[in-house]
Amino acid sequence: MSSSSLPLHPLTSYGWDDAWADEFTRFDSEGLLPGRVIRVDRGQCDVVTADGVLRADTAFVTPNDPLRVVCTGDWVAVEPAGNPRYVRAYLPRRTAFVRSTSSKRSEGQILAANIDYVVVAVSLAVELDLGRVERFLALAWESGAQPVVVLTKADLVPEPATLGHLTQDVEQTAPGVPVLPVSAASGEGLDVLGAVLSGGTTVLLGQSGAGKSTLANALLGEDVMEVRAARDVDGKGRHTTTTRNLLALPGGGVLIDTPGLRGVGLWDAGTGVGQVFAEIEALAADCRFHDCAHVAEPGCAVLAAFESGSLPERRLESYRKLIRENQRIVAKTDARLRAEIRKDWKRKGAEGRAAMEAKRGRW
Ligand code: GDP
Ligand code: ZN
Repeated sequence: MSSSSLPLHPLTSYGWDDAWADEFTRFDSEGLLPGRVIRVDRGQCDVVTADGVLRADTAFVTPNDPLRVVCTGDWVAVEPAGNPRYVRAYLPRRTAFVRSTSSKRSEGQILAANIDYVVVAVSLAVELDLGRVERFLALAWESGAQPVVVLTKADLVPEPATLGHLTQDVEQTAPGVPVLPVSAASGEGLDVLGAVLSGGTTVLLGQSGAGKSTLANALLGEDVMEVRAARDVDGKGRHTTTTRNLLALPGGGVLIDTPGLRGVGLWDAGTGVGQVFAEIEALAADCRFHDCAHVAEPGCAVLAAFESGSLPERRLESYRKLIRENQRIVAKTDARLRAEIRKDWKRKGAEGRAAMEAKRGRW
């Protein structure tokens, strides 16, 4: 997000903007530093501040509620000194990316905070699985961020007409989502993707082998592994080796890549499912019954569209499957926790959305 204040704040490249600055003013009198969490690890976290990367204790920001634990991407108020030095609070999240922990426990786990784009990497090297794309998109929408589909390894589809058809297929599956073919090998599409992502914070999702690491390296302009071993100077001038899960992109924007983001599952993507299947939700508004399940109900507008041939069977099946799966997961999940984190998004969401809408004009 761009900032109108000059000169640029040293944290601008990490996503600091006027709205964060406003939020932070309540800590000014306490002498705390603003910073962004680049990594969390067992009671400690690394925070990038105007004074460099500081290691801090997370005892104050580790409540029992797993969705309220400080995480990578959070903006925090950190003590400038102290042994240990503490993170005292984090600013209300604009968005949050959450996964289910395991099938036995019902709590979600927060993987990344304050993300603007969820890039779903889909490999063109294998047959398109639109159902899988839909699942990832449901998860992406649920986070509150803008999904973007990136069709990777476009160099393996040399025929422009074929590439055009594949892109169209995905576009039809993904209303409201930009679909962009790219190739890390040839460089195709990387400049456009880089320009889009320069406007905010991004996480990369997708199957193993989809090309996420290669894409991350291409966007970073160097090997992530190398970047991760980079040495940082803390406030006292001591050098500490830091594993960063949050990296500033050279062309602007921020990339978050945590181990947990690899292999996420579907977790209460209720709202998300509706957005992935926007055309079905629109049809459903005309069903006779408010709670129509679109299976055998009289006056069902969804079934009518299917029978007339305007709604493809694959799409309807995929929708039903996702709804069923989602209901099972929701039944295990504490609704209160979910309501809590949505409250923050609602409050902060409006301005973020407005910025996103403006950006969407680019496509
Ligand atoms: P990840 O598991 O999603 O992180 O996928 P990787 O980045 O490890 O890539 C998986 C495989 O795809 C590797 O063998 C890469 O070399 C290959 N790959 C990645 N990007 C491209 C590309 O743009 N073109 C081609 N032809 N292969 C690619
Ligand atoms: Zn219906």
